Amino acid sequence: MNMFNLSKLLNRIYTARLPELKDLEQVLSLNDPKQLNVLFSFADTVRKEFCGDGILLRGIIEFSSYCSRECFYCGLHKSNHKLKRYRMSEDELFKAVEYLASCRIKTLVLQSGQDDSLDALWFKDIISKIKSKFDMAVTLSLGEKSMDEYGVWRQAGADRYLLKIETFDKELYESVHSGMSLDNRIKCLNYLRALGYQLGSGNIIGLPGQTLKMIAQDIIFFKRGDFDMIGIGPFIPHQDTAFANRQKGEVNLCLKAIALTRIVTKNAHIPATTALGSMDKDYRFDGLKCGANVLMPNFTPQPYRKLYEIYPGKRCVDEPVGRCSFCMDNMAKEIGRFIDYSRGDSLKERKVSANV
Ligand code: SF4
Repeated sequence: MNMFNLSKLLNRIYTARLPELKDLEQVLSLNDPKQLNVLFSFADTVRKEFCGDGILLRGIIEFSSYCSRECFYCGLHKSNHKLKRYRMSEDELFKAVEYLASCRIKTLVLQSGQDDSLDALWFKDIISKIKSKFDMAVTLSLGEKSMDEYGVWRQAGADRYLLKIETFDKELYESVHSGMSLDNRIKCLNYLRALGYQLGSGNIIGLPGQTLKMIAQDIIFFKRGDFDMIGIGPFIPHQDTAFANRQKGEVNLCLKAIALTRIVTKNAHIPATTALGSMDKDYRFDGLKCGANVLMPNFTPQPYRKLYEIYPGKRCVDEPVGRCSFCMDNMAKEIGRFIDYSRGDSLKERKVSANV
């Protein structure tokens, strides 16, 4: 494809109410470095137009590594008995949140595995206390729960929820998530949307068995669902999982998916994920230059941070807590951008809460 046709194709995707699957697939199959530059700079222009030059920070605390699920790509899966499990105490959690607040971070992400023993009321209390003491948005990422639990936490003040779809292809989804169903995932997303959470989805690039068409379908799902946040990261094999010997996801494919998601969704918040920064070099820079507008510094205190091993080689596991937020200032400067210390709420203007 010559450059003129590529520009036409990107414009068609940008202006479509819902892009054609085959157009997205065609872009995902690009490999020529000059063509990739055109794609990435198109996405960067869309990012600038809809999100500006500020890079939002989401401070993450991984407060529990218990998990009852058996996702084939994840080191936290239930039968990984090599992993020492933890759930932080209220006191430990508060100290970590206090430190995060002192770094001017205005979004806290509380993440865990699918921790079925988590006491919903204990956790509701934690959310209420955080919301009354600190001026910050609270994002939850705790997996599939009941509508009642989602509702109690929303009432306590939780603002946002991340529940990645990982892949929208039903067969692939159910083959890599033993005992789980895509329908239930979507049901949970609809509960969350109905409760008024700002809603995040996302996928993994390079899952064994995934095709370009499936990634294109994911991007259409993100568009249809009008998600507020979309996290896209590469698959990184973990030695203690069923996918131990599979190939890593390709960085370029991940960057293409980020760029296309930016072009298609326009104003969703898209992080340059920690997984992207945990490959052979730190590709978060590249992510920020092709559509991403968010970074996620890790505030999980030691010794827990090392134990939350979804994939191996995770960035900054040995760094002192909070160090990442300083390093992010430098990252932003290096690419001529700046850290935006606001809450960074959704940029969507949603009048009615439609289903995903
Ligand atoms: S991806 Fe989430 S639910 Fe699946 S095993 Fe890992 S922590 Fe558990």
